[in-house]
Parts: sequence; C-alpha cells; structure tokens
Amino acid sequence: MIHQEIKRKLISIVSPENFQDSPVERLSYSFDSSPDMQAMPDAVISPRNTKEVSEIVKICNEHKIPIVPRGSGTNLCGGTCPVEGGIVMLFKHMNKILELDEENLTITVQPGVLTLDIITAVEDKGLFYPPDPGSMKISTIGGNINENSGGLRGLKYGVTRDYVIGLEVVMPNGDIVRTGGKLAKDVAGYDLTSLMVGSEGTLGIITEATLKLVPKPESKKTMLALYHDLEAAARSVSKIIASKIIPATLEFLDQPTLQVVEDYVKIGLPVDAKAVLLIEQDGPPAVAQRDIEKITAICQQEGAFSVEVAKTEEEATALTTARRWALSALARLKPTTILEDATVPRSEVANMVRAIGEIAEKYNLLICTFGHAGDGNLHPTCPTDARNREEMERVHKAFAEIFEKAVELGGTITGEHGVGIAKAPYLELKLGKAGIAVMKAIKQALDPNNIMNPGKIFAKNDKPKLVIHK
Ligand SMILES: Cc1cc2nc3c(=O)[nH]c(=O)nc-3n(C[C@H](O)[C@H](O)[C@H](O)COP(=O)(O)OP(=O)(O)OC[C@H]3O[C@@H](n4cnc5c(N)ncnc54)[C@H](O)[C@@H]3O)c2cc1C
Repeated sequence: MIHQEIKRKLISIVSPENFQDSPVERLSYSFDSSPDMQAMPDAVISPRNTKEVSEIVKICNEHKIPIVPRGSGTNLCGGTCPVEGGIVMLFKHMNKILELDEENLTITVQPGVLTLDIITAVEDKGLFYPPDPGSMKISTIGGNINENSGGLRGLKYGVTRDYVIGLEVVMPNGDIVRTGGKLAKDVAGYDLTSLMVGSEGTLGIITEATLKLVPKPESKKTMLALYHDLEAAARSVSKIIASKIIPATLEFLDQPTLQVVEDYVKIGLPVDAKAVLLIEQDGPPAVAQRDIEKITAICQQEGAFSVEVAKTEEEATALTTARRWALSALARLKPTTILEDATVPRSEVANMVRAIGEIAEKYNLLICTFGHAGDGNLHPTCPTDARNREEMERVHKAFAEIFEKAVELGGTITGEHGVGIAKAPYLELKLGKAGIAVMKAIKQALDPNNIMNPGKIFAKNDKPKLVIHK
C-alpha cells in the first residue's frame, strides 16, 4: 500500500478526484485485454498535464513506487498488468489534439487521444495517418507508440514508428525531455525518439507526440481471392511482392477464422474456401486499377478459384470491417482467447501456417490463423478456457513451439503486440543473452530504480506473482 504521507503528496498534485485507491477502482485496473493475467495496483492516478506527470514521477522515483502508464488497456501482452503493484497512470485528461500543421504535414497530440480520432481529423484535411491497428476505435496513440503498433495498412505504409518524429517524455527521474520535432531530418545524437517507440512504458512516460502525415490517397480498390489450399494463397503473396507491387493491404484468413467471422458478421463470406486473401491497393485511380488487374492475374495463375473486386465502397468497407472483426469474432467461441503474433519473412508464410496446423493437431487444440500476410505477421489464435488448467498447459506448450518455429524460420516472437509479460520468457529465443544484456543496460541506465512498468519485457527466474481473477 502507498504510505499515507506519500498519498497526501500525490493528491496535492492531481487533486482528490484524480487519485483513486478504492478496491473497486484498483480491481478495474488490475487487468487488461491480455488473457489470464491479473494483479492489483495500489492506486490509480490521472494527471492533467506534463508538469503533474513529472512531479508524480519524482515522488515515485524517490520512494521506488512502480508506475504503470495505461492508455485503453487493449494490449495483448499483459503490458498494463501491474505485476509489482504501484500506481496505474491514466491519460484521460491528456487527450487533446494540440495542432494540425498543414504546412509541415504534422499533427501534435497528447497521449490519450484515440487513434481513430487522429485518422479522422487528418482525413478531413485531405491528409493521411496510415497506422490502423484493429483496435483503432478504442486504442490511444500513447499505447500505439509504446507498442509500435501495426495495422492493415502496414505493408505499404509501415508501422507507428515510421510516423513518430517528435516526443515529449517524462524520464524515470522526472526530467522532461524533448526528442526530434517537426523535422524531416534530424541526426543530433542518438535517436531517442526511436528508442522510446516500442519501449512498452518501461523507459519513460510519453506526454506529447508529433506525428508525420502524408497526402491522402486519391482512390482505393478492394478485392478478395479465394483458395482451396493454403500453399496457393501463400505463393500468391510472395509473387505479388516479387512483381514489385506493394498493396496497401494484404491480409490472410484461414478457413476456421473465416467461418467464425461469417457466423458473426453474416455478410456472405465464402466459408468453403480453405484460405482467403483480402487485398487493397490505393493511389491515383489509374495506378490502383492497373495494380489490381495485375494482382488478379497473379492470384488466378497461382490457383485462386475465385477473385472478386468490390463493386461499391460499401462492399469494400464490409470486407475490411469483417477482417477487423476477426479477433472479436473468435473471442465469442470460448471464455479465453489466446492470440499471438509470430512473424516470419514473407517467403516463409506458407511454412509457418503449415507448422501452426501441425502443432495444433499435436496438442489437440483449435488454432485459427489470420493476419497481415504481406508483413509475414500471423495471428495464430486459440479459443480456450483459462479455468481448464490441463488445456492451458497444452496451449502454452503449443505456443512455445510456434515461437520456436517462427525464430527457426528467420522470424520473431512478436511483430506488433510487444513482449510485456506474455512473451518475456521467449525473448532470449530472438535476442540471445547478449542482446538481452544490451537492453537491460539501457533500462538500468535510464531507470536505475526500476519504477517504470517493472516486470515487463525481461523474464524473471521466478514467475510473476499473478492473482488470477476467478
Ligand atoms: C480487438 C483488438 C485488435 C487489435 N489489433 C491490433 C493490430 O491490428 N495491430 C496491433 O499492433 N495491435 C493490435 N491490438 C493490440 C493493442 O490494441 C495495441 O497494442 C494498442 O497500441 C494498445 O493501445 P492502448 O491505448 O490500449 O494501450 P495500453 O494497452 O493501455 O498500453 C500499451 C503499452 O503502452 C504503455 N503506455 C501507454 N500509454 C503510455 C504513455 N503515455 N507513456 C508511456 N507508456 C505508455 C503501457 O504501459 C503498455 O506497455 C489489438 C487489440 C485488440 C483488443
């Protein structure tokens, strides 16, 4: 628990209504979207500005009180589960778009702004903020930056990191640092902006971000290619890229996922197909049309039994929305949904999908796979029940094998969801001991008291003491 004297100081910074430590409030912030993880914080605090964040951090650093920054809690790696107690910090007051600069093509925002609000605000001005995680309606930009989130448009436009050009950060000692800015170029010393992106709240608190914008594409075409076998779909992905076409979106859904999504959205998806590619191209109308024609020809050559281009905008939106609903649809099947994001080089997508199928069979589990095929970023997803500990054992063993396979194929344990608690035990598979030592040295240098989101990224020998919610 937080000592009364410290509590008094924290309340004097944020005012009483922004400091909560009732059991109900603490319980509400004891878990996030990640399954099977829960731990109670000691308090929940909602600062109103950067100065207050800095003052809070100074007190926490002096008394070694953990701080867990939290956006909307939609992360899937236990990233905001307060495993070592302490304070959960919310940004519900720091949720303003500060400036949309049409001359420099930038937008400057506070961390609590919702991703979709940024996308909508800039599109109204003919501009484009491409990173579009499936959770964009509810996720915050602070969370996106700290997970370096990707989305359906990642193949052509990149991920959050590619758009963050300036940050204001409260460091673990309370210092306020500004990195980058509205600059197309900046090589003044180490790239601190990049270091902070994807740092999962472990190196500091982001209190402001300047994001790069690009002109909004003039037009967009959407199509669906259906296959009787996974190999043919995977081959199409490689062929499209090898033909020097980079689609805006190149998504994959396997048959079990397709069935579950159709049961949910009921838009007449082809549930008899073994695999489906959802492909979009944007740009000037003539270029989008040319690329879609070339892609259609490639899909047909590689064995697609049907290729259809959406005839209307409504039809196109229905298809992409169906893909965005995949996780929610799968989550309806069983009480617990374990979704991972093993990522491999594009050329290995078919091998990885096949391996996931074999591993699912070996452990007698249903594992549905969908994901950003163009990025090699797959989401093997297992609907299960955390109360069935025997099945959970099998699930954990299966996913350990999936991660090993991904790394063996030249891939990684996470392409966009981050390490958090969930993937900490597998980090060494990807980085080796030396890589982990470098990361720990950075953490130790910036946060010697280990107050920023402790218990994340680096595995402990003893398992974190999780209080499972019954
Ligand atoms: C249905 C669904 C679909 C999803 N689809 C995608 C997808 O397509 N692509 C993808 O990449 N992810 C996806 N995710 C995962 C998740 O939405 C993203 O990781 C998202 O960026 C998290 O945003 P958030 O605001 O919820 O952050 P949170 O979950 O609250 O926090 C995420 C991390 O950021 C840290 N953090 C938050 N704010 C700050 C701050 N101001 N300063 C420092 N650290 C901070 C937290 O400590 C934590 O480590 C999906 C999740 C769901 C539930």
